Amino acid sequence: MSSLDCGGIFLLFDPDEVNVTRAEKAARIAQMLDELYPAPPIPLDHVDPYTLLIAVLLSAQSTDKKVNEITPALFARAGDAAAMTTLSTAEIADYIRQIGLAPTKAKNIRALSEILVVDYGGEVPADMAALESLPGVGHKTASVVMAQAFGVPAFPVDTHIHRNAARWGLSSGKNVQTTEKDLKALFSKETWNRVHLQIIFFGREYCPARSHDLSTCPICSWAASKKRIAQEAAKGPKGKKK
Ligand code: SF4
Repeated sequence: MSSLDCGGIFLLFDPDEVNVTRAEKAARIAQMLDELYPAPPIPLDHVDPYTLLIAVLLSAQSTDKKVNEITPALFARAGDAAAMTTLSTAEIADYIRQIGLAPTKAKNIRALSEILVVDYGGEVPADMAALESLPGVGHKTASVVMAQAFGVPAFPVDTHIHRNAARWGLSSGKNVQTTEKDLKALFSKETWNRVHLQIIFFGREYCPARSHDLSTCPICSWAASKKRIAQEAAKGPKGKKK
């Protein structure tokens, strides 16, 4: 990664610097991300907590772009939980058939809408445990809804965040639970919602999933451990910018 175009802000840091603590790394990375993405938008189109919940559920194993293409028609037909329960699972599946796992997602959308109507007056509860108890809603989806629909600090960890937290030496990368715990400890609570989006945007823009040369990158060259750089170099050819 020899040519990241980051407006020159990375030059503020000495790429040969060593012995940077996790907290120092986090502070520097936060500063860089603030410069690159001062006001990161919410990637999934929605108008309220319900449409966000459905969009996030649909985004698993798919892309935000694809979800944004299919949700207008679905929400025009059923924009709230009560309206969604008037559709059959097969009808919902028909609206979302272009994305992965459509039959399962349709079943979950129908079932969770029913629960919202019966137990929550048709509204999405602003409660992590209640959200996680809904069909098809895991911890990450619930965290996104808490953060982006209700403004409650959360740190949803997706694959981009998990991978980069490990590459940057901010977490051991053992599993997403550990990564979430480590990131929550490193970044101040009031910045969690923003940093989460910033890392996603950075990862999508700059960081390939496959192994590539970390030693020339303005972040990884000083944030990644020498061991990590050597490991990625040994795995295969350099990746290309996404
Ligand atoms: S993974 Fe590291 S080296 Fe690669 S682009 Fe992202 S920050 Fe740079």
